[in-house]
Amino acid sequence: MNVARTIAETRAALEKRRSGAIGLAPTMGALHEGHLALLHAARAENETVVMSLFVNPAQFAESSDLARYPRAEARDLELAADAGVDVVFAPSRDEMYPPGFQTWVDVTEVGSILEGQFRPGHFRAVATVVLKLFSIVRPTRAYFGQKDAQQVEVIRTLIRDLALDVELRVVPTVRDPDGLALSSRNALLSPNERRRALALSRALATRDREQALAELTSANGLEIDYLEVADFDPPVLAGAVRIGSTRLIDNVVLEGEAE
Ligand code: AMP
Repeated sequence: MNVARTIAETRAALEKRRSGAIGLAPTMGALHEGHLALLHAARAENETVVMSLFVNPAQFAESSDLARYPRAEARDLELAADAGVDVVFAPSRDEMYPPGFQTWVDVTEVGSILEGQFRPGHFRAVATVVLKLFSIVRPTRAYFGQKDAQQVEVIRTLIRDLALDVELRVVPTVRDPDGLALSSRNALLSPNERRRALALSRALATRDREQALAELTSANGLEIDYLEVADFDPPVLAGAVRIGSTRLIDNVVLEGEAE
């Protein structure tokens, strides 16, 4: 497995692999089974698999949130190698945002509802970094998790609006046996907070907004940011809650492809 730190190294590593399909899975690291599902999906249908590992500072509104985001690069590289990744692109902040950086891409409508209301600028940063990754890697297919349903919708819109030549692949949400959606942020929960966090997946599993809202409102020790039906492709019931200083999001598909 080739670990590339620069755009030039990544392009050089991929140059000789362009005759076959290239699958890209963008991640922020602290890998778990959800990320591995993306890597396995990519491995199954591409000659080359690229994983990016970049904690994108621009998509964090608060520096404290960025500072406490879990990082585990050595372990991530082992897991990526085990999953059959060919190239990891793990750039520095300056490599992605060189001094004077000022070009942003904004998916204005999809990016401003739900998560966008609570995290202004978040999806502008996501769309920009993903477009840049697409430009560096030039993947045939890109893999994203249904766990971040609004992110998928933002990327789908970005690809359509700018006619990007990449196939979007969406991988179903991977959950712990008790229903909690896997997230790098779960590592930040105390055992007690983790128990309380289960209310979110339980509420969403009702697939009914009113019922879910009633369940979440009666749950102890969490604050609801939103719980809404979103008209994405496929439509989802999506929610975000705060438990202590950790914010979790999750969603269930309401129709179309089953999860
Ligand atoms: P992150 O490192 O959290 O930015 O996630 C990287 C990619 O993995 C995104 O496309 C996420 O949607 C996806 N992902 C994260 N958690 C899960 C999960 N539990 N199941 C499926 N995909 C996930």
